[in-house]
Amino acid sequence: MSLPLQVGLVGWRGMVGSVLMQRMSAERDFDAIETTFFSTSSAGIAAPKIDGCTVFNPILKDGNDLTALKAMDVIITCQGGDYTKAVYAPLRAAGWNGHWIDASKILRMQDDSIIILDPINMPVIQTALSKGVKDWIGGNCTVSCMLMGVGALFKAGLVEWMQTSTYQAASGGGAPNMRELLTQYGSLYAEVKDLLDDPASAILEIDRKVTAKQRGFTPQETQHFRGVPLGGNLIPWIDSDRGDGVSLEEWKGGAETNKIMGWGKQFGHAEVPIDSTCVRVGSMRCHSQSLTFKLKKDVPLADIEAMIANDNEWVKFVPNEREATEKNLTAMNVAGTMDIPVGRVRKLAMGPQYLGAFTIGDQLLWGAAEPLRRMLRIIQAR
Ligand code: NAP
Repeated sequence: MSLPLQVGLVGWRGMVGSVLMQRMSAERDFDAIETTFFSTSSAGIAAPKIDGCTVFNPILKDGNDLTALKAMDVIITCQGGDYTKAVYAPLRAAGWNGHWIDASKILRMQDDSIIILDPINMPVIQTALSKGVKDWIGGNCTVSCMLMGVGALFKAGLVEWMQTSTYQAASGGGAPNMRELLTQYGSLYAEVKDLLDDPASAILEIDRKVTAKQRGFTPQETQHFRGVPLGGNLIPWIDSDRGDGVSLEEWKGGAETNKIMGWGKQFGHAEVPIDSTCVRVGSMRCHSQSLTFKLKKDVPLADIEAMIANDNEWVKFVPNEREATEKNLTAMNVAGTMDIPVGRVRKLAMGPQYLGAFTIGDQLLWGAAEPLRRMLRIIQAR
């Protein structure tokens, strides 16, 4: 019998890392590995107590200690891009040849890395494993959630192009952004509580006070969304400005979807054009998207529905009806679950090859933590 893998966990107490720990506990991933916890801030204190995890090293190791990291067969990091920038290259330069599984975007588009989303791209992962690839990077949350929902259409080679409009949650910005959103909601409510309590008050007066409060938020009250309040508002720009009219988040939609599918120059396969408008909205942790496809041919709607519904066990197909949609196709309904509902599937007025759909996913689960722990399982199974 082979020895259990030595697995180093870095970034386990952050937002993505905490969700990863919950999922690894729930799936008993710790049973078959020997776990060492690392920290960039608290090395030397006791390792955390995580349900179902017997730690191999009872003391937190230093996340910047290359010697300690080199003893690992697998390192899973949810620590963030700065950590990857600082540690990955020196570790490889020091001769470490283990598997690096990373939630950050830094290595995603490197030619020798694979973006992992195994229910969608297991063949790409298996081919890469057999070629000796060792860098496994979690995809952009919006892309991963979208592909978990409608990946069937891409797998079948049916998509000529796709355009999306996203509705992305505060959690995508990080924990402080979620707190900021809720604090703003609270302040807005407090501003008009008296008027709300009075059934005779005028709604336009309430609206005027809310808008004035939003416009009057201090830089401190809006610091995590770059000075713009998200409470009662939306922000149609996510991530950095590439200077070509496309936000970095929008660019990732096309670049990462193609890379996940194993398309593009790296794989010697033509890319599918994908573009999007990415919008931050005041929901907590689920990203939603309205999708428009041009298909390569006219496929009957019932066949498309069946393909989507049967693609993977997490897709929950929602009939394109009012009640089913209101009940099942909401961010609140999906939060904290592995479900990926897909609904509003219909042919569009532009012609029989044009298809509309709407999908939602918890961006901390399928959008961040889940592909990482599944990759560990895939490595173990080899
Ligand atoms: P985060 O919550 O800021 O955590 C990152 C690290 O910050 C922790 O591991 C911890 O490291 C340190 N930290 C400092 N103060 C802390 C505190 N009070 N509570 C918890 N941790 C604290 O980062 P994240 O949002 O999970 O993101 C991690 C990576 O995943 C990033 O590269 C991000 O881009 C990527 N990602 C994020 C999302 C998302 O939705 N947030 C989605 C997909 C991918 P030490 O223990 O070493 O101090």
